[in-house]
Amino acid sequence: MPRDYYEILSVSREASSGEIKKAYRTLAMKYHPDRNPDDKEAESCFKECAEAYEVLSDVQKRKIYDTYGHEGLKNSGYQGPGNFEDVFSGFGDLFGDLFGRRGGSQARRNGPLQGNDLRYDLTISFMEAVHGVAKELDLTRRDTCWSCEGSGCRPGHKRETCPLCHGRGQVIRSQGFFQVSTDCPRCHGEGEIVTEPCKDCNGMGLVNKSKKVSVKIPAGVDHGARMRLRGEGEGGRRGGTAGDLYVVILVQEHQFFKREGETIYCHFPISMAQAALGCKVDVPTIHGKKSLKIPAGSQAGASFTLRHEGVPSLRGGQKGDMVVELQVQTPVNLSLEQKELLQKFDDLGREQGHHEEREGFFKRLFHEVLGKKSKENE
Ligand SMILES: [Zn+2]
Ligand SMILES: [Zn+2]
Repeated sequence: MPRDYYEILSVSREASSGEIKKAYRTLAMKYHPDRNPDDKEAESCFKECAEAYEVLSDVQKRKIYDTYGHEGLKNSGYQGPGNFEDVFSGFGDLFGDLFGRRGGSQARRNGPLQGNDLRYDLTISFMEAVHGVAKELDLTRRDTCWSCEGSGCRPGHKRETCPLCHGRGQVIRSQGFFQVSTDCPRCHGEGEIVTEPCKDCNGMGLVNKSKKVSVKIPAGVDHGARMRLRGEGEGGRRGGTAGDLYVVILVQEHQFFKREGETIYCHFPISMAQAALGCKVDVPTIHGKKSLKIPAGSQAGASFTLRHEGVPSLRGGQKGDMVVELQVQTPVNLSLEQKELLQKFDDLGREQGHHEEREGFFKRLFHEVLGKKSKENE
């Protein structure tokens, strides 16, 4: 039968939450494993206090415990802190930074260490992004040292318990009134040290290695896309798996094509006469060229859609469209003959009344603007 929680914390059954917290804090400091190295009894007291505190600091659980006791808690699904790590994480919440992140490192520091994920920025051309490309990356990264299998120890030797912190990874330092727990300076919080370092990695467990990694970039990939290559990151240590490599795709701009998702945009220049008379032109697309019929009287900025001449969808299926916007070019550097012809052309237009609509519009606009102005001036 487990001990009574109030008895463990030495508080009355009517104790306030403040009193419970204070009692727990005092006891936890007293029994904390950092202050009682290799003391099994202190460790079990510490766990007991943590469990009592977890229940009594929770209004709901305390109510159940007060009414039905330990059995009641069990029936309500509360199992108690299952392992040492849970106890520590509860502890961390209460003390905040006082004991640092003791909880997490306790469970993991001697175990396998997974390698870090790495990022590689890969610049590719616009067309490579559109059509897909295979690339080979030259990577130099820290890989598991296979002479020691990432342990850092010379073959035939093992990591040993750190003599300074006795394997705890943490040491207690006095800082004025407080006692602060910090990473052990000898083992850097790992609790173990390498006494006979592997010659190939100097005890690191990792060595720099160059490797060529092939990446197949799918057609339709866009700027900023991220590809994950599992296990191609930094090597693991002490039996841990390698991290992942994230390839971030940076796509260069194209001088003619612009892209938005799967749609391609371009400006296509034609002459004034072509726009007025209509014509058939060959428009470059990302897939080759496509003939486009431009009807007579097309205005600058008019756009035409070429279906399925855009970017292939990454998810498969149909390609996007291509939107061609007309850019009507005003002729420059005219010869005398051209000038005369254009002037004649303009005069003919005036005679036929082609300018009237436009001139009428501006007459009305001037009237509106100037009329208002003269009123304001009155
Ligand atoms: Zn090694
Ligand atoms: Zn140490």
